[in-house]
Formats: sequence, structure tokens, C-alpha cells
Amino acid sequence: MSSYDVDLFVIGGGSGGVRAARIAAGYGAKVMVAEEYRVGGTCVIRGCVPKKLMVYASRFSDEFHEAAGFGWTVPEAKFDWATLIANKDKEIDRLEGIYRANLEKAGVEIIDSRAVIEDPHTVRLINTGTLVRARYILVAVGAHPTMEPVVPGGELGITSNEVFHLKSLPKRILVIGGGYIAVEFAGVFAGLGSETTLLHRGDKLLRGFDEDVRDALGDAYARRGINLALSKTVSRLDKQADGIAATLSDGSVLNVDQVLVATGRRPNTNGLGLGKVGVTLDAAGAIVVDAYSQSLIPSIYAVGDVTNRANLTPIAIREGHAFADTVFGDKPTMVDHSLIPTAVFSTPEIGVIGCTETLAEVRYGEVEVFKTSFRSMKATLSGSQDRVLMKIIVEKATDKVVGVHVVGEGAGEMIQLAGIAVTMGATKADFDRTVAVHPTAAEELVTMRTPYMVKKAVAAE
Ligand code: NDP
Repeated sequence: MSSYDVDLFVIGGGSGGVRAARIAAGYGAKVMVAEEYRVGGTCVIRGCVPKKLMVYASRFSDEFHEAAGFGWTVPEAKFDWATLIANKDKEIDRLEGIYRANLEKAGVEIIDSRAVIEDPHTVRLINTGTLVRARYILVAVGAHPTMEPVVPGGELGITSNEVFHLKSLPKRILVIGGGYIAVEFAGVFAGLGSETTLLHRGDKLLRGFDEDVRDALGDAYARRGINLALSKTVSRLDKQADGIAATLSDGSVLNVDQVLVATGRRPNTNGLGLGKVGVTLDAAGAIVVDAYSQSLIPSIYAVGDVTNRANLTPIAIREGHAFADTVFGDKPTMVDHSLIPTAVFSTPEIGVIGCTETLAEVRYGEVEVFKTSFRSMKATLSGSQDRVLMKIIVEKATDKVVGVHVVGEGAGEMIQLAGIAVTMGATKADFDRTVAVHPTAAEELVTMRTPYMVKKAVAAE
């Protein structure tokens, strides 16, 4: 008889952990999942899903405004924060229920408790003190928002954990950071009517994205009335009778009602017992794993944001699935992290797959860049001054498309489909022979014929 209580103990009921648990159970493994907060994890409970619902809410203001050009008279639109939050919470409750039900249907036992590792095969449930012996332990505990930089009064700020439960829509908000979360929430609050300042230490938003995309987003946000405070930091926050006074690095003071700190996330590895059993962490506190998500301790694996590889829900799901296939399905599977389509749900939206122009030059030598920027057909009547940006980067030697970048309405949807072609290794000639769907914005992706420029990489010479 086995000396283990379970074949697999998963710590963390988020995207990666839930997928791993269900697939492993499907292979016949006896599986337990411990979750200390709510099943569904960051994505479902306080990340992608509620965020996207808020993004949808924020975009109605544009629609109401733009409807006039198409002949509509829209009475003064009023927004009620409490209704949005209540409806969003109802949907999140429903999704959590589905996650729980799916685990139970798969025969997985859910433990509503924090769990810590005692030794390579033992987990302790904090609520009861019970020890559970497991053949394998999967750590899928995700990450948490940081409150950096640490400044006097910094505790007056909130993070993306609290932003989903504010009692009211802030009249004035300062968002700190220039990454995914800061950019997305600045767009949400501006769309909902808050006076929004987006403060970032760099001179452009979204470091790591293509420079044209960064420029297009900066222009669009300035046009939307978002106060961009670039190349600045916050020196201190002080409570005022009517809000918070933020003193900035240039000495100016900004009075706001809320400060949202979105300056990155850190793996949730503190206090898990990892050091005690010899699991190695990197400088950022992430669990070091191999291509099969195995840590240095053979019985302990880790997937998702706690490994800080590519911190995206679909990647955590893939890693969880690959782990289960490898360990319980006798199908060793690695996850390819090299080509990941991604979207930023700013308004306008951003969709990206593959290399930026700068990276492509370094990686591929001579590259051709196809680029177009135009006002969409809808904008001709709506009066919107927003421009759509599309950019395709091609390796000259092979004609292979190595990067696609879209800024504009529906960019996330477009890049999911363009991503199939790029993942398959499509060439520019394949894009060219694809018949356009007319009239759409996306047709520009298959009708750009003349390279905007041909560049030789310094590194390749
Ligand atoms: P990001 O890493 O995307 O961005 C962090 C931002 O904070 C950067 O602009 C960074 O500046 C800035 N920053 C970091 N440290 C400091 C500091 N000490 N002082 C001032 N500014 C600082 O993190 P997010 O929190 O926005 O998001 C976390 C991750 O979650 C993302 O990387 C992404 O993987 C995922 N995510 C994905 C989404 C999606 O797919 N749509 C949506 C939301 C999150 P600098 O650039 O100068 O380093």
C-alpha cells in the first residue's frame, strides 16, 4: 500500500493549479488542492476577468459620445459604480462556483486552507495542522502586487487587489507605474470619468513593447485627457481632509482621492517552507524550475507566476497541463515560452506577437518593416481622432513574419488570429495571398505591400 495520502498535492487554486489538478485527476491520480483565499486565483478573482469587465464598462462613454455622428441622440449618460461592482462580484462568484464544481467533478478534493511544505513529500494544512503526505507537490501560488517604491505615506495607496472593491468611483486618481496594470486601469478610470493621472518613472509607457506601439499609446492617452506624468516618481503621500496629496519628484503636489500603485508583482514564496526543503529561489523570489517545471527537489514542481517565467494566465494553464501530462500522463511535455501573443486592455487596445522592431534587428539581421497608421472607418463619422497602428516585421532572408503589432479597437481579438499564422511560421507572402475581409480594419494586415523601411542590424554586421 502507498505510504502517501495523495498522489498530488497542489498548493494554490488559480489557473495553473486548477488545470494541473484536473488533468492529473483525469489520469487517475488522487489529488488535493489547497487554496487559502478563493478558488480561481488572481485571473478570475482579482485580475483578468474583473478587469476586463471594468474595461468594457469604461468604453461605453466613448460609444455614447461617438453615437451622435451616426444620428443618435443619447440623453446624458450616468454611471453607477455600485451597480458595476455588484454585477462584477456576482459574475466572479458564479465563475468561482464553476471552478469549484469542475474540480469536484474531476474527483479533486478542495481544502480551504493555506498549506505549507514540511518536507519534500509532506504538506501541513494551516487551518487544522493536519499533515498530508504526497507523492508530488505542485506549488502554484501565484504572485502579489508590490508597493514599491517605498515612500513616506506609501500605505495610503492601494494595489490591484483593492481596486476591485472601492466603495465609490474616485473623482481624481493617481496611477503609478507604466506596465500592463497601470496602463489598463488608467484607461478604465479615465473612461469611467475619473480625473486620471498616470505617473511613470520612464519617459514612455510599456517598456519592452515596440517603440511605435509605445508612442501610439502615449498619444492616444494624452488625447483621451489622461494626465501623463512621465519621467517622474512620487516622493511622498500625505493624507488630507479631502483625499491624498502626492508630492512628486519635481516638487509639484497633486491632490487626488485614490493612489493606485501598479509597479509590478512578486512571487508568493514567503513562508511556504521552500527554503527549508531546499527549493531554490531566484533573486526575485521565484521558484527556479527546469523546462518540465520541476524544482531542484524532484518531488516538488511549480507552475505559473510563482516561477516568474511569463506571467500570463494562458501560460500558467499550459504549464499546469504540461506538468500533469509529464508526471501523470507519461507524456513528457515542455511549454514553449518563445512566442506568446498578448494583449493590453488599454483603450485603445494593444495586441502583439513576436519581436519588436529593435529586437528583430538584433535577432534576425536584415528586417523589413511594414507599417500603417490610419483613422478607422468608424472614426470618420464618430469624429474620434484615434488612429489604428499596424506593424509587421519580416525577416528579410526567409520572408518569415517575426512580429505583428496592433493598436486599436479589437487588437486583442486580431492578434489571437494573427498569432496562429505567426506560430505556424507564416511568411509575408502568406499574409499577402490571404484575401482581405472588407471593410474591416484588420484587412490592413494583409494589404500592406511596400516596406516602410528595410533595416540591417548592427549586431549582424
Ligand atoms: P509590469 O512589470 O508590467 O510593470 C511594472 C511597472 O512598474 C513598469 O512600468 C515599471 O517600470 C514600474 N516599476 C517597477 N518598479 C518600480 C519602482 N520601484 N518605482 C517606480 N516604478 C516601478 O507589472 P504589472 O504590475 O503592471 O503587471 C504584472 C504582470 O501581470 C505583467 O507583467 C503581466 O505579465 C501580467 N498582466 C498581464 C495582463 C494582460 O495580459 N493583459 C494584464 C495585467 C497584468 P520600468 O518599465 O521602468 O521597469
